[in-house]
Amino acid sequence: MQSRRPTRQVIVGDDRVGRVAIGGGLPGADGRPTTPAPVSVQTMTAGYTHDIDACVREIHKLAAAGADIVRVAVPEKKDTEALRHILPQVRVPIVADVHFHFQRALEAVEAGVHKIRLNPGNIQDKAQVVEVIRACKAKGLPIRVGVNEGSIIERKDKQKRMRELGTVFSEHKHGAMLAIMIAKLEEYLDIFYEEDFRDITISAKSMDASLVVDAYTEISRRFEHPLHLGVTHAGPRETGAIRSIAALSGLLVNGVGDTLRISYASDPVYEVEDGLELLYALGLRPRKGVDLIACPTCGRIQVDLFTLVQEVRKKLAAEVAVPMKVAVMGCIVNGPGEAEGADVAVFAGDRRGIIYVQGERVANVPEDQILAKLLEECLAFQARVLAGEAKLGEKKVEIIPPDPVGELGSGWEKVAAGQVQQVTIGRTD
Ligand code: SF4
Repeated sequence: MQSRRPTRQVIVGDDRVGRVAIGGGLPGADGRPTTPAPVSVQTMTAGYTHDIDACVREIHKLAAAGADIVRVAVPEKKDTEALRHILPQVRVPIVADVHFHFQRALEAVEAGVHKIRLNPGNIQDKAQVVEVIRACKAKGLPIRVGVNEGSIIERKDKQKRMRELGTVFSEHKHGAMLAIMIAKLEEYLDIFYEEDFRDITISAKSMDASLVVDAYTEISRRFEHPLHLGVTHAGPRETGAIRSIAALSGLLVNGVGDTLRISYASDPVYEVEDGLELLYALGLRPRKGVDLIACPTCGRIQVDLFTLVQEVRKKLAAEVAVPMKVAVMGCIVNGPGEAEGADVAVFAGDRRGIIYVQGERVANVPEDQILAKLLEECLAFQARVLAGEAKLGEKKVEIIPPDPVGELGSGWEKVAAGQVQQVTIGRTD
């Protein structure tokens, strides 16, 4: 992992909904270096903003899923009018997404929104852009300048501009498009700089993961503004997840990216869940809730592990807030190793599960009791952690499975016969 690229810092929000910092590391208004903020997760409502109650419900749902910032589309005046009723009811910073009509940006600012997103591809009139900049400046609101491959340039000019700029990044697969994106950003940001406005985040999205990597990499070398990462129109979660993670993880491990939105053609809750999981996996955010480890199963499996894992995931997500590591393993081959490394673990045998808490065996139960018993042990362990009686990640014992473990290497017969024992070596407490 490379260290995060230092940027200016942008703050989104207010006293009421809380403030989310984006980026940081470069000096702030007081001349002292700002502390880089954790990478934040954004998403966007899928419903109509003017459907006030439904919009509020969706924002609550996304915030509960962990979204740091929620964006809403405001294509019509009735949408910006709705913002006046929506904003007082929500507890997360809201960004108004503005395309084509600069008046919507002015109305959204007036309604009390926390940030504006402008697309240089479809709000190009300098006087209009200046008007939006001045309105945001007067209220201390940041602006995201978001270029998208699909709307970066008027269609009639596209081929001509691509020919003109095609040699600038000739070493890149998408050199011409990259050049257009950067030229457009430079051109657009000059308007902001002329107004001495630097409260800016930048995005440069495409549905092509490799172009996204190239674009953000080049942009990070040229601009000091925080970067909002995303692969646009990534498709449904089934394919969009890989498309998005391929691009975003490559950038994040290289220290590029300060906030992100994973976009799917499905419920935006998944965007939040997967964005957070990406940051947890890379160690860029402290995990909230359970870190679930599960084996993929194989011919040794003796319980319905897929169903069990899904049930465990849902139950623990709802009831456990402490970031404990929980392992659900199909057999004795990898079970003991994960049981040692996890705070709470189960490894299955012949229609049974042996449950361990920090390496110590606490139960051996039939398959139909695994879920309830595992949940009970997780809640008891959580209570001990919260009371200061146990520490996360503290291994107490080592577990050695019986040898030989059985014909299939699964050890299930020995588990069924109650022969799998905990062997304690070098007890640490
Ligand atoms: S833990 Fe056992 S059942 Fe699961 S994948 Fe490994 S060997 Fe197969």
